[in-house]
Amino acid sequence: MGLKGVAAYDFHARELGYADPEVAEFYSRALFSTLTNVNFDLDSTLNLVLECGKVNYKAMEVLDKANSERFGTPGPVEVSTGTREGHGILVTGHDLLDLEELLKQTEGTGINIYTHGEMLPAHAYPELKKFKHLVGNYGGAWQDQKREFADFQGAILVTTNCVLIPKEGTYKDKLFTIGITGVPGATHIENREFGPLIQKALALPKLNDKAGKTLTTGFHHTAILSLADKIVDAVKAGKIRHFFLIGGCDGARTGRNYFTEIAEKVPQDCVILTLACGKYRFNDQDFGTIDGIPRLLDIGQCNNAYSAVQVVVALAGAFNCGVNELPLSIILSWFEQKAVAILLSLLYLDIKGIRLGPTLPAWITPNVLKVLQDSFDLKPITTPDADLKAILG
Ligand code: SF4
Repeated sequence: MGLKGVAAYDFHARELGYADPEVAEFYSRALFSTLTNVNFDLDSTLNLVLECGKVNYKAMEVLDKANSERFGTPGPVEVSTGTREGHGILVTGHDLLDLEELLKQTEGTGINIYTHGEMLPAHAYPELKKFKHLVGNYGGAWQDQKREFADFQGAILVTTNCVLIPKEGTYKDKLFTIGITGVPGATHIENREFGPLIQKALALPKLNDKAGKTLTTGFHHTAILSLADKIVDAVKAGKIRHFFLIGGCDGARTGRNYFTEIAEKVPQDCVILTLACGKYRFNDQDFGTIDGIPRLLDIGQCNNAYSAVQVVVALAGAFNCGVNELPLSIILSWFEQKAVAILLSLLYLDIKGIRLGPTLPAWITPNVLKVLQDSFDLKPITTPDADLKAILG
């Protein structure tokens, strides 16, 4: 599973012309070893799994560099969840290059472009937000897609994973796929030539003006690190007691209310860092500020996990301590493979005490769990109250 996550990051970077030979070399060796490792040896397997975390960290670093050099360094931005009168295209997935090309081809056509779910942080990149017809964010995490896509009056472009198959007779005729995505009956766009999608959007009814909420995103590590002095002062003055990194994939399974509840119950003197689509459970709430520092800092997509690690490492540097000595708790929700790859990177960086939920992945058998608990103090989530009490005392 970790290897699939690495492939996702590497794929996006390669589309932008960036690649690291260490990542490609690891693919073949890791896949081959799953074929040949018939005599299961826990130590060598664990080493390979941690190496997967190391390689994923490298892949995430390359992708961060690729995105920042191509689209500019992201910065905090407010994004409306409302709609504007006019034709519209909704872009879901994670691929910023697809979005950029669509923005170029729709300029001056009267079509407004909306981001969906994990595309929200696109608004934070200077080279994307400069397009005036990139007007807002519509809809949240992937599991609500069938209802949200049916309600959206315009056309829809699916750029990456976490797409659901529409029910017959709903929105398949206005659904377009690109790149690695494919949905039976949907039109596939080749070579980023968006003509059929644009024609469809123009033929569909216009969206109405509708007010929405305001979301804030774009706290790339460079933006958070620009607040480093303020953050250190607030911690030293006792105004910030603890940091919570609450992030990861969302899903439909019961038990995920845990992530909403714990974010809501985090005390007022604590800061929440978040990323990926699990944040849609709480990112429309006003968490306020501490000495001008927002209490909720949305780092971006799951593709921005490298930024989260940079923030953690920089905080440790600022406080002159190890990452595990920081007043920081990491609470991850997992669903698909990128979340697993991120977890492996955190373990490779020897970050201990991570909480994981809503359930443990199936590959964490009791034996594997024991190894992870003994080596990394990995814990399954319990309840928000019990976990907050265990963390804060
Ligand atoms: S965060 Fe995970 S579940 Fe959510 S859209 Fe991204 S890959 Fe899919």
